[in-house]
Order: sequence, then C-alpha cells, then structure tokens
Amino acid sequence: MRAWLTGQAFDSDTWRRRFDNFLPLAVREALPALAAELDGLARVRSEHAGHDGSRLLVDLADGQMVESVLLPRDGLCVSTQVGCAVGCRFCMTGKSGLIRQVASMEILAQVVLARRLRAVKKVVFMGMGEPAHNLDNVLEAINLLGTDGNIGHKNLVFSTVGDPRVFDALPRQSVKPALALSLHTTRAELREHLLPRAPKIAPEALVELGEKYARDTGYPIQYQWTLLKGINDGDDELDAIPRLLKGKFGVLNVIPFNSLEGDDYQRPETERIREIVRILHRRGVLTKIRNSAGQDVDGGCGQLRARAVGAEQV
Ligand code: SF4
Repeated sequence: MRAWLTGQAFDSDTWRRRFDNFLPLAVREALPALAAELDGLARVRSEHAGHDGSRLLVDLADGQMVESVLLPRDGLCVSTQVGCAVGCRFCMTGKSGLIRQVASMEILAQVVLARRLRAVKKVVFMGMGEPAHNLDNVLEAINLLGTDGNIGHKNLVFSTVGDPRVFDALPRQSVKPALALSLHTTRAELREHLLPRAPKIAPEALVELGEKYARDTGYPIQYQWTLLKGINDGDDELDAIPRLLKGKFGVLNVIPFNSLEGDDYQRPETERIREIVRILHRRGVLTKIRNSAGQDVDGGCGQLRARAVGAEQV
C-alpha cells in the first residue's frame, strides 16, 4: 500500500525525489503538477456555502471523509486526522475517536482542491484532528507549503491542545508556523474535564511555553477559547484571564459555541459575548470574536461529516 494511504510520512530524500519529478516553477506557483496525482487522493464530495465561508466535505481515496473550510481573506482550514483521540466534550469530531491519520499528501490535496475554487494564502491546521498526534505528516505538509507552496510561514497556523512534542519539534523546523493553543479555561481541572485526553498541562505552563515560542518566532500566539454558556463565560474567568494573558504576545480568540438542538453545551447570548470582549479589552487582553466559518449552514467541526456518515448508515 502506498505511503499516503497508510498515513506514513516520507523521509526528506524521498520527498525531494518525488518533487524533482515535477516542474519546480509550476509547483511553486500553485502545486498544479501534483494535481493529477492528488486528484486520486481526494475529491470534493459536497460544498456548503455559508455567509462567511464554505465548508467542503472531502472524500479520501479509501472512502473516509474529512472537512475543509474556506475561510475569509483567502484562508483555508484543513483536517489532519479522520476523527480525533482528544475527545473534547464540545466537539463532534472528538466523539468518533481517532479513525486514521491523514497523510501529508492528503493534506496537500485539500489545499489543491480549495485552490481550484479560489486563492489560498493562509492554511490553518484546525480542522478535524489534533495535528500534534500526526506530527510527521503535518510538519511535512507545512514544510512543503512554506517552501514550494509559496505560503508565508506566519500564514501557516499549527493548532494544538498543548502537546509537549510540539514545543520540541516546531523550533527545529526550517518552516516555523504560527501557533494556536486551545486554552478554553483558566482552571486546570475544568480544562481536564473539557479536554479529557489532552496532555495534563496547567494553563499557566501552557501559556509559558506559548510565550517562549511567540518571542522566538515573532508570531503572536492565538489562544483559542470555545465559549460555553454557564461553563467558561463567568466573571471568575474574566478575572483570571488578565492574570494569565495580560502582557503576553498573543491574542485571545473567543469562539462562541455553535449549539444545535440537543447539545450538552449552549452558546452564550450575543450581548454576553460582546460584554466579555469589552471587559477583557478594558483589562488589557487583546480579544477577538471568531465564529467558525460556514457554521450557519453546517455547524461546527465534524458535524458535516457526522451527518454524511449517518446518512450512509441509514
Ligand atoms: Fe480533537 Fe480539536 Fe475536536 Fe478537540 S476540538 S476533539 S482536539 S478535533
């Protein structure tokens, strides 16, 4: 079985030999010479337009499915695993557990598919899966996109729940991506509950590691905070966040949970979301509201795939 189907990473010589067979200029421009090969790896099963971006449900060669999201300002969110082992309680992808790794070529195939629809100048590794659990393949894809793929290094964003291997590996890469860290709460015990199989690292220690990486690379950390009504939107968190993040080289991305009927968690009211941002700004924490693109039609990460799998099983 070929390496890209097994999820096995190529060593750098193999990778280089493969690319020597393609036209380097064309590869630099838009990876088109790979297109024919990549066509066999992935195809768009369906496209779901939302007011701020489109979700693509992508079929892989073995029948598995992943989601890619076309983000505003020429961004693309790609999936790095089918399913995910971390099991975050608010995430549909986490409910399926890990099904398999997405190979580096399959990650690139998601970029090529998106580039057929429109320009892609930024790639965020925040779709289905924990990139740190598929580190070799993700780093290989990042390396290629940051060199032959012509994407600025700070426009490649590696997202993690805080796996310590990331802080060893990323500084050693020639293409160093920007980093997004899933924080979600200032309380260690709540974080362990919400992210049950993430590394048990205290929020303070996570921010310390992030701060070092941000200072070394010159890219601010994106701290991710999925906002859950009655769970992590309280005044206690608003008091603790500035103690944790004030003065740090980063931005807090508040992502209001996209609740569907029957979900365990709910989205806070719009006025509360705005108030949280106002308060945090006043207290010296750069805070932005980020909605997950395309959520108006398809919900959050993994919901589209879950529906398609459910439909196939009927
Ligand atoms: Fe995995 Fe991310 Fe979902 Fe958590 S939020 S279960 S890390 S895909």
